[in-house]
Formats: sequence, structure tokens, C-alpha cells
Amino acid sequence: MKAHDGMYIDGAWRPAAGTDTIEVVNPADEQVIDRVPAGTAEDVDAAVRAARAALPGWAATAPAERGTVIGALRDALAARREEIAETVTAELGSPLPFSRKVHADLPVAVAGSYAELAATYAFEEKVGNSTVHLEPIGVVGAITPWNYPLHQIVAKVAPALAAGCTVVLKPAEDTPLVAQLFAEAVDEAGVPAGVFNLVTGLGTVAGQALAAHDGVDLVSFTGSTAVGRSIGATAGVALKKVALELGGKSANVILPSADLAKAVNVGVANVMSNSGQTCSAWTRMLVHTSQYEQAVELAAEAAAKYGERIGPLVNAKQRQRVRSYIEKGVAEGARLVVGGPESPREQGYFVSPTVFADVTPGMTIAQEEIFGPVLSILRYEDEADALRIANGTVYGLAGAVWAGEEAEAVAFARRMDTGQVDINGGRFNPQAPFGGYKQSGVGRELGAHGLAEYLQTKSLQF
Ligand code: NAP
Ligand code: MG
Repeated sequence: MKAHDGMYIDGAWRPAAGTDTIEVVNPADEQVIDRVPAGTAEDVDAAVRAARAALPGWAATAPAERGTVIGALRDALAARREEIAETVTAELGSPLPFSRKVHADLPVAVAGSYAELAATYAFEEKVGNSTVHLEPIGVVGAITPWNYPLHQIVAKVAPALAAGCTVVLKPAEDTPLVAQLFAEAVDEAGVPAGVFNLVTGLGTVAGQALAAHDGVDLVSFTGSTAVGRSIGATAGVALKKVALELGGKSANVILPSADLAKAVNVGVANVMSNSGQTCSAWTRMLVHTSQYEQAVELAAEAAAKYGERIGPLVNAKQRQRVRSYIEKGVAEGARLVVGGPESPREQGYFVSPTVFADVTPGMTIAQEEIFGPVLSILRYEDEADALRIANGTVYGLAGAVWAGEEAEAVAFARRMDTGQVDINGGRFNPQAPFGGYKQSGVGRELGAHGLAEYLQTKSLQF
């Protein structure tokens, strides 16, 4: 039983304007575990007004003091680690160890990085006879998805607060409970009333009302390309700034000099983690024709091992979507080596870890984001061919390159049209800019680049 219900607006929990609710379902057993209010345009309006009223005070708060408050928020999140992990496991379905290590701990690291950045960032620069002030952009409408539900909230709210902005958050309908926990942590941390506001609800109702609201200066959205496009269009008409974190179809390029077994094993783990529901997952593995069959065998073995540990997909609709992609892969002539469209369990929205070989660049499963535990292995003849295939989608979010020497991998990575590339298994860095080339998005999140998205410049000439 959770401590609070309703909307968190202007520093207090208050009942929603309407009476509709959203059922929260545990995807591992399909049971309803809770209900949250389905916010309407009226709730969004109240939240935006509160955020607007709080803006002058928060924008005028010294950056170091904003950093102290974000540090307190970091501590409040860290203290709730277990509760956060259990909540994400219940509403998203990810296995508990992953919920602890990633869904709970990553947001703590990101909040910590902004506690520090708020205090150290240069909010003022000299350019010749000018002083340039970097000022908060204003009220932020944040719309987040369910796949890394707390991380995606913190990756928007922490830099916005560091910049001096105020926020209204509309989290995904599938994962609203961790968003409520986040609001409780905000409250505990002593964030002033109105600086952060939460409206739970449907994307087509509350999300749309928030994206279109006149009182919002910047819409920061993470989710599907289709919704991102429509939010971008609405914001364009209103001349509002947007930050869009969209889909991906990233390439894992294994050059012939690489440690093949390591590259394949890490590659498979990358795709299967979080049940394949990761926008930056390397869902296309590119292998030289001379090593192709060996790589397929290694990938099949690695994927089969995941069968025991993999969590469900978030909901029945996503499971259906992923199954249709698997069926399409078979229909278009790819070779199914592990997994398939059948449900591996009677209950829960599970999909078996699936690997396709003989995937050609034009196939649907080589082009579209599947958002499930499905790996496509493609063959290349030479480096030029590998680069053409790697760059041959509308997306450009992430990628990986493996080679015997780092320099060889770096030279290849520099020619990829994508926002971040892991070299020989380089670790995720929560302070490096994260975001997409091409249709993977507009803008960057995390670190100092993520903070800059929430600032606008004012030049004073002397
Ligand atoms: P989505 O619909 O784009 O959801 C993202 C967020 O936007 C949610 O909070 C959603 O609310 C909201 N939203 C939906 N329609 C809206 C609208 N018209 N105006 C304003 N906000 C709106 O994504 P999804 O349906 O959950 O997932 C579909 C596909 O998107 C996935 O299969 C995957 O390919 C992709 N996806 C990508 C990412 C990523 O990290 N890049 C994350 C999630 C999904 P509701 O929760 O009520 O829908
Ligand atoms: Mg949706």
C-alpha cells in the first residue's frame, strides 16, 4: 500500500480533477497491483500554473544551492533503493537484481552528477565585450516512457532543476508507481513547492495536454518516433523548444581482428538485458563472412542461456508487437536459430530470447525497432560494406565496434552516423552525452550537454 495517491502539485498530494483511474499490471503474472488517477487537461493546467509560479524563485536560487537540493534528492533516492527496485520489478517486470543495479542505482548516479554540475557549471561566460548569462529556459514539460522508468525521469528532472527550470512530469501509464516514489523523494529532499509536479495519466490525454500547453517552454520527450514526431510538430507550430529521445536500431560491428567470442557474448547480453526494451540496444550484429557461422553458433548458445533469467515484456501489446516482428522475420526469409514467436510460459508477457541469422539489410527486422529480445545477425564482405550496412537505417542512437586494436575500432566508429559508440566493450558513462543522429532524436541528455538543453543565453554588451 503506497503512502500517497493523487497528483503531486505545488508541493502537496491532491486528488485528481476527474475520477478515471489507470490499472497498473504486473507483467510477470498479469495481475492488477494498483491503480493511479488518470489525469486530464485540468490537472495538467493546475500543474503548469504551479510550475510557472515557482519559476522566478527557483531560477533566482544560487546554482550551488540548487545543487545542494539535488544532492538531497539523490540521497532520498539512494535511501529508497529497495523500494524503488521492488516497484520497478512489479510494474515493469525486470528481474530484481537488474532493478537494483540499473533501475535504482543509475538514477542515483545521474542525480549525483547534477548535484555536482549545478555547483560547478559556468552559468556565465565572457565573449569579447560581452558577458553571456546562461539562464533557465522556463517551465519544462517532461514526458517519459516505461523502459527505464526512473532513469528517464531523473535524466530530465535533475538537469532541469540544476538549470533553474521548473517541471511538470507525465510518466508512462505502465510505470506510474515509481514516478510517485520519485515525487515522494522530491518532497523529502525539500525541493520548493511547485518546482516539480507530477501528473499521472494517458499519453493521449495528459501527455498531449502537457505538450500543447502554452505555459510550457520546453517539451522533453523520450519514447517512440511516431509520438516524438507529433510532439515535435505541435511544438514547432508553437515555436517551443523540444528535446526528443527516440528509437534506435544500433549496429554491433565485429571487425575480423576482434575477440569474436567476447564481442558476440557481450553483444547478446546487451540485446537481451531489460528483455530487449532498450532504445540503444545493438540489435543488429554485423559479422565478416569468414567468421559468420561461428558467430551465429556463439550467439545461439549465449541467447539460449538467457531463457532462464529473462523478464517479461511490459504489456500484452508490446508482446504482440514483438511476436509479429519475429513472424515477419521468418516470412521474409531470415533463419531462426533460437527462440521464436511462441510464448515460453503460460502466464506473463514473456518472449523467448530470439536470434535470426541470414538477415539482409533490407529486411524489416534489420530496419525497424522491435523493442524485444530479438537479435539480427547480418553478414558483410569488407569494411566498406560493414559501414554501409551500419549506417543504412533511419536511426543513429548507439553502436559498438570491436577490433584487435582500439585505434582500428575508433577509426571505424568515427565514420558511423550515430550518437554514441562503445569501443571493445567500453562501459556506459552516465556523464557522457546521450542522444541520436538522424531520426533517433533531437538534443542530448546526461552530463553537461544534458544541462545545456535546459538553458538559454542572454548577452550583455559593455
Ligand atoms: P510512446 O507511446 O511513445 O510513450 C512514451 C510516452 O509518451 C508515454 O508517457 C506516453 O504515454 C506518452 N504519449 C503517448 N502518446 C502521446 C501523445 N500523443 N502526446 C503526448 N504524449 C504521449 O511509446 P510506447 O507506446 O510506450 O512504446 C511504443 C514503442 O516506442 C516501443 O515499442 C518502442 O519501439 C518505442 N519506445 C522507445 C523508447 C525509447 O527509449 N526510445 C521508450 C519506450 C518506447 P502512455 O504511457 O500513456 O502511452
Ligand atoms: Mg503508448
